[in-house]
Amino acid sequence: MTHPEPTPVAGRPVVLRGGTVLTMDDAGTVLTDTDVLVVDDRIAAVGPRLEVPAGTQEIDAGGGIVMPGMIDTHRHMWQTVMRGYGADWTLTQYFVWNYLEHGKKFRPEDIAAGNRLSAIESLDAGVTTTVDWSHNLQTVDHAEAAVDALRSVPGRFVLAYGNIQAAPWEWTADPAVRSFLERHRDAHDDMLRLQLAFDVTGDPGFPERAAFEVARDLGLPVTTHAGVWGATNDDGIRLMHEHDFMTPETVYVHASTLTADSYQRIAGTGGSISVSTESESSAGQGHAPTEQVRQYGIPVSLSMDTSVWWSGDLFSAMRATLNADRMSEHMEAHLKGDTVTHLRLRAQHVVEWATRGGAHALGRDDIGSLQPGKKADVVLIKNDASPVSFPLLNPFGHVAFQAQRGDVHTVLVNGRVVKHAGRLVDIDLAPVRREVEATVERLMSELGPEAWAKGMNPDLPSTEVLDNPYQYTDFKSEATHTGGEERVLGR
Ligand SMILES: [Zn+2]
Repeated sequence: MTHPEPTPVAGRPVVLRGGTVLTMDDAGTVLTDTDVLVVDDRIAAVGPRLEVPAGTQEIDAGGGIVMPGMIDTHRHMWQTVMRGYGADWTLTQYFVWNYLEHGKKFRPEDIAAGNRLSAIESLDAGVTTTVDWSHNLQTVDHAEAAVDALRSVPGRFVLAYGNIQAAPWEWTADPAVRSFLERHRDAHDDMLRLQLAFDVTGDPGFPERAAFEVARDLGLPVTTHAGVWGATNDDGIRLMHEHDFMTPETVYVHASTLTADSYQRIAGTGGSISVSTESESSAGQGHAPTEQVRQYGIPVSLSMDTSVWWSGDLFSAMRATLNADRMSEHMEAHLKGDTVTHLRLRAQHVVEWATRGGAHALGRDDIGSLQPGKKADVVLIKNDASPVSFPLLNPFGHVAFQAQRGDVHTVLVNGRVVKHAGRLVDIDLAPVRREVEATVERLMSELGPEAWAKGMNPDLPSTEVLDNPYQYTDFKSEATHTGGEERVLGR
């Protein structure tokens, strides 16, 4: 494959010429045959046949889609070293492996390895801002390693500081943690912001209050796994609300198994929900609350949760979200004998959630749309070698259902070109691979081959073979029944 365009040089203006531009502005404006000019870290102009400063580098966006960089508001980036390991896990198996059995084995360098790989993966997939829901920061050294890894990759990140190995009211009281948070907060680094990440169990004593007070003292938003079946529920939301800790900056991840009361409290206090549909569909937190967020007018963003199952790819998130919402809409109608003739959730909605929805969740009105003056986080989807790249009839439908990460041609973050002509710029995967392999080898040897294999291959559930309803003889087929009863009873 040859790339006629030279790789852009840092610091020079860039113009993407003649693309279909999804501005993601308030009106949802789509412009065809339009240019986007980037000067320094900002979008300087959007329009047809722009005049550009001398020395501007040209990128041909003809036949492609130019859109804002996507924003993932919840990903446990450290777990990317375990990519695909838990493909067949339930949430329970995830909790046991990470929270109870093996999460403690992760050293600072292991956190760094996962974070670096995940951060690079984001850029490759057109995800320009990623929230690192970093809930295995057992020491401040782990946290420093997490931040150093994020800073080594030219993306925009939010470190959501957390620690599943201790109670939130314990680790937030640690002066070393507090000073780490103050230092990074006061650095005012536009590429690395902070949140506090912890869950609220619903314990009537509300011990999490102390952690919320630390967040308030430090002026940091809280992100919390809410409405997770069997783990967090309405009680946690009610306690947060009664103690006045629900704010517009609060991000409720999943928010699946909640009742109307909780959705009303979230809507009333202005917070947002981060929907991780691939996770909710597969792991068991509950159904993605895509119907409720629209019913109660709650702002939404999308997230990928963890690469233990899925990859850090918001094309997948958009697709899964449309599929899950439509599946439940059809199923609910069918159960009542009805037919859905008009779909409620549109491709444009999920593209909004993946872009401006994420910007809103993070309290940033300077990213998430392509308008003059905004930060230049830009993605060009264009793959002339792909038969899926044309005809380009419905741009939102194309992004949500046709495009994929391999079609991400060019990515700019903060005005800097980090991917061009389908290749990451100035990122060498070889040392990243080596550090990931070192972590994997060390974990494998610490677990031993048996526990390693067992962790990756959970037992199948017990299966009882149902009897054929024709009961006029005592005949039972040996093919389905021999040993079946013993197998079930023996468990
Ligand atoms: Zn999560």
